[in-house]
Amino acid sequence: MIGTTWKRDSGMTGHCPTWSVLCKFCADRGEWTRMFLRYSLIILGRSEALCMSEPVNQIAFKCPECAWVTRFNVTDDTEYLKEIVERRKGRLLYLPPVEEWGKENEEIARQLASLGYVGGR
Ligand SMILES: [Zn+2]
Repeated sequence: MIGTTWKRDSGMTGHCPTWSVLCKFCADRGEWTRMFLRYSLIILGRSEALCMSEPVNQIAFKCPECAWVTRFNVTDDTEYLKEIVERRKGRLLYLPPVEEWGKENEEIARQLASLGYVGGR
């Protein structure tokens, strides 16, 4: 998982996908909509309430067009997950500032357009 579909990064999230997170439902309508980071929650222990059997960085994305929310449970070493929590000054949950939601859409739309995709944002 780490190194193939997800990589560590030095930001507040601690992990980022190695692909563009595009909305599959908007893709069905021919739109290429970039989903934005909605939250990242570090879950360090086993949690029956959250159906977790191992420590994860739970990362959620939301589509600004159709409101679909999806989340990934990225497993990594407990020590690294604790490092992420330290970056957040002890907070397990990271919510990006509202003004950053969907901020990357225009750049992604420009890149997709240059590759021949039309529509989307
Ligand atoms: Zn969508």
